Amino acid sequence: MPFEDYEPVIGLEVHCELKTATKLFCGCPTTFGNEANTQVCPVCLGLPGTLPVMNGKAVEFAVKIGHSLNCTIASYSKMDRKNYYYPDLPKAYQVSQYDKPLNYGGYLDIVTKEGTKRIGVTRAHLEEDAGKLVHAGGKSGRLDSSDYSLADYNRGGIPLVEIVSEPDIRSSDEAHAYLTALKSILLYIDVSDCNMEEGSLRCDANVSIRKKGTEKFGTRTEIKNMNSFKFVKQAIEYEIKRQAGVLDKGERVIQESRLWDVTENKTKSMRSKEEAHDYRYFPEPDLVPIILDPAYVQKLKVELPELPGAKRARFETDFGLTPYDAGVLTSEQELGKWFEVGAKLTKNPKGFANWVMGDMAAQMKEQEKELKDLKFDQKKLAELVDIIDAGTINSKQAKEVFLELFNEGVSPAEVVKSKGMAQVSDPKAIEAVVGKVLDENPNVVVDYMGGKQGVIGFLVGKVMQASQGKANPKMVNEIIKKKLDS
Ligand SMILES: [Zn+2]
Repeated sequence: MPFEDYEPVIGLEVHCELKTATKLFCGCPTTFGNEANTQVCPVCLGLPGTLPVMNGKAVEFAVKIGHSLNCTIASYSKMDRKNYYYPDLPKAYQVSQYDKPLNYGGYLDIVTKEGTKRIGVTRAHLEEDAGKLVHAGGKSGRLDSSDYSLADYNRGGIPLVEIVSEPDIRSSDEAHAYLTALKSILLYIDVSDCNMEEGSLRCDANVSIRKKGTEKFGTRTEIKNMNSFKFVKQAIEYEIKRQAGVLDKGERVIQESRLWDVTENKTKSMRSKEEAHDYRYFPEPDLVPIILDPAYVQKLKVELPELPGAKRARFETDFGLTPYDAGVLTSEQELGKWFEVGAKLTKNPKGFANWVMGDMAAQMKEQEKELKDLKFDQKKLAELVDIIDAGTINSKQAKEVFLELFNEGVSPAEVVKSKGMAQVSDPKAIEAVVGKVLDENPNVVVDYMGGKQGVIGFLVGKVMQASQGKANPKMVNEIIKKKLDS
């Protein structure tokens, strides 16, 4: 079957580490990168006789995530034991949520090339992270070539929220847009640092394919534990092609967990997929259920900041921005705030947006600067936009003024003044120069009269030269034409 006739069906599970100061059930700190096994205690090591105590802040953060993903917040939810044995899990069970998750039935709107699309969020539940195994002694640092493994339990017991999407995603681009939108929200509501290199955000992708136009899902595979949006995109693309190849050969896709191999750029079989019943879930007997007061849940909703989607829509209406521009400017909360202050200081917010996303973003990237490092404020950039709109300087000069502003923080008006840049837009002054140039170039005037319209560019150039580049080029053009045609 032609590849285009297959339709991918993708669902994502995102694990987000919450930025609480302490772990989910004990007082151990959650700081990343400290010496192995220095942030552990009998509770998070699962020693017999210890009892977990729920971290209230983790519940608060989890509810905020639920609100921001338009979920129903359960008035009653509970923790369950998910039983499995692995060396990074000293208790041999993970405390998670099974049939009564804290948040369920939400959605997230993503922006794609085709427009806005709504992706369902099945649930967002609270659970604890496992420890980390360091595979040592081998060449690659991976399990399959290592001589031995070391267990670090510092991460064990750090609170996570697992956000599970509906299988509504239809391409790797949509998956990427979903993850980008989700990360943006999590940063806006300040519940996670979302640092992907440190594993604060990790993604599993469930991928299957079916013939376009059919309803029934194909057999899915799950690509586990990716910590880069780029890898997620690549892995999904690879997996769609791989499954199509399997089906085209008349074989069946096997339900299994796979790993994305970043060196070979392919997914590899890891183990056959477990079902929920393999984990023998049962209610965690050492913790009381989570019963939330509606007033408390409502209070957390009210406390949320304006979210990226709402801000994007508002920027489109208030400042006449395109959905793309509004999306870029709201992707990070600080950038959105910075832009909005400036956009209100000028009559041309769209022009202000162009500078922020264009030259300013480029310089920030080149010089590795953040907003807090800038030597100028929004008022000065707005001043530049207004000077350009008034026709005082041309676009080439504007770039020069901007660099002075960026590098030295000098006010654009002062740069224009000190460099004598002010563009001449006085028709009388321009007419005088035009008259002089025409007198000096009688042959060219004859050529024009003879039908050679192209020589007008030569005359504009002469006038610009005579005015040391200060004449308003648009007016020069108009005045020359007027004189020659009269
Ligand atoms: Zn502990």
